[in-house]
Amino acid sequence: NSDTAMYQAKASGRNNCRFYSPDMDAKAAHRLMLENNLRHALEHEELALFYQPIVDVKNHRIVALEALLRWTHTKMGPISPAQFIPVAEESSLILPIGEWVLETACKQIQKWDNDGLFSGRVVVNLSPRQFRQSDMVKQFANTIERTGANPQRLGMEITESVIMENLDTSIRMLQSLKEMGVEFSLDDFGTGYSSLSYLKRFPIDKLKIDQSFIRDLVNDRDDAALVKAIIAMAHSLKIRVVAEGVETFDQLDFLRAQDCDQYQGYYFSRPLPADQIRFKDLQDAAGEPNAPPAI
Ligand code: C2E
Ligand code: MG
Ligand code: MG
Ligand code: MG
Repeated sequence: NSDTAMYQAKASGRNNCRFYSPDMDAKAAHRLMLENNLRHALEHEELALFYQPIVDVKNHRIVALEALLRWTHTKMGPISPAQFIPVAEESSLILPIGEWVLETACKQIQKWDNDGLFSGRVVVNLSPRQFRQSDMVKQFANTIERTGANPQRLGMEITESVIMENLDTSIRMLQSLKEMGVEFSLDDFGTGYSSLSYLKRFPIDKLKIDQSFIRDLVNDRDDAALVKAIIAMAHSLKIRVVAEGVETFDQLDFLRAQDCDQYQGYYFSRPLPADQIRFKDLQDAAGEPNAPPAI
């Protein structure tokens, strides 16, 4: 299934695989080790997508699934995205990896559709590096068309820094994909540096409040005030709000009281492999008066 990914991995890297040298410091050597292993991982199917439900606050229905990349190295075991995504970005490997992610997500959309299991959106994360490709929109359109996935079933998450880097070009790219039916969310909101006035210019559908604001929401007055303000501001701009990293009933309760639209977090479900998501069980649990048990 990864002929394209393999081809691109080779095209982008095979011939410029870099080697260690004695004067490299330990950190640089570690990064380089990861980079070379990551290139190998892409060619040898060590990468996988897990999916985490994004849920309606009011009725706990799954409205979307976020695709999250997982890497299990044959010897080193699982390596976290926080470690390898930055390496992938710096080495350009994020381009063939991002292409693999989109293709895999599109195929999964088709599969769930055929099985009649899930008809919401599948959402992929985009890296700043992908946005710097002038033919990004064309490439994405090709992949979507090739897999036959309906772009109305696809979502993309970007961070503020992605758009800020090249505002006008980025907005044009967003708009072309939105015209195809793709939905856009602004990820990790509150951690970046964009001003509220910029938010008005971004053609985004959803804003995801970063989990660092959700963590102490119930006890920290400042976090509570910020979350309240973000929700009110987003709604006044007709942007829906998702809270990330919801782990407890009390957090959910606060969000519900503030009219937050959707949430995502271990409280409902951890990210899972596609074939381990028990849609029916999750939805049955969602019907309980309080809230779903974490699984
Ligand atoms: P993100 O896009 O903000 O994804 C949310 C992260 O929060 C995920 O971490 C998820 O596993 C974690 N999470 C979800 N619910 C909870 C919770 O209740 N508590 C806590 N403590 N954490 C929760 P993960 O999977 O480790 O990914 C980290 C980051 O790596 C992502 O942050 C995203 O920026 C990046 N990433 C992951 N997959 C991809 C990908 O395919 N492409 C790109 N470019 N970046 C990716
Ligand atoms: Mg995300
Ligand atoms: Mg996030
Ligand atoms: Mg994050």
